[in-house]
Amino acid sequence: MSFAYDDSNIFARILRGEIPNDTVAENDHALAFRDISPKAPSHVLVIPKGRYVSFDDFAANASEAEIAGFMRLCAQVCASESVGLEKGGDGFRAITNAGAHGVQEVPHFHLHIMGGAVMGPMIGTR
Ligand code: 5GP
Repeated sequence: MSFAYDDSNIFARILRGEIPNDTVAENDHALAFRDISPKAPSHVLVIPKGRYVSFDDFAANASEAEIAGFMRLCAQVCASESVGLEKGGDGFRAITNAGAHGVQEVPHFHLHIMGGAVMGPMIGTR
């Protein structure tokens, strides 16, 4: 997969307001909303508002303001979902899938923040 961005992906459509979402938090550079098919009691997706395909695309090409905005929104989600460690939460798992081997379903960079229960092994056995 290259970094060629597909404007028809579902998260681009959410950002354009074409599809509803259950917003948790938002700032100038990022949006956080609940996963439609939650894998944990709290399962929030954080996405940049810019057109980035994957984590490595975002890490290489996003501006410092976009990166800061994205990361601060992640912190806000950890706090508001009561999973962050700063205020005594029990913790969470943050993962991002990229490309074919990462089994990425939606080609717009997103971080899964999942908590509310013990997350179990990091990945399934093969
Ligand atoms: P990936 O496999 O790309 O890391 O994860 C994509 C995630 O997006 C999945 O967990 C899936 O449940 C979620 N998802 C797919 N379509 C929608 C949608 O239309 N709305 C929301 N809120 N989540 C979606």
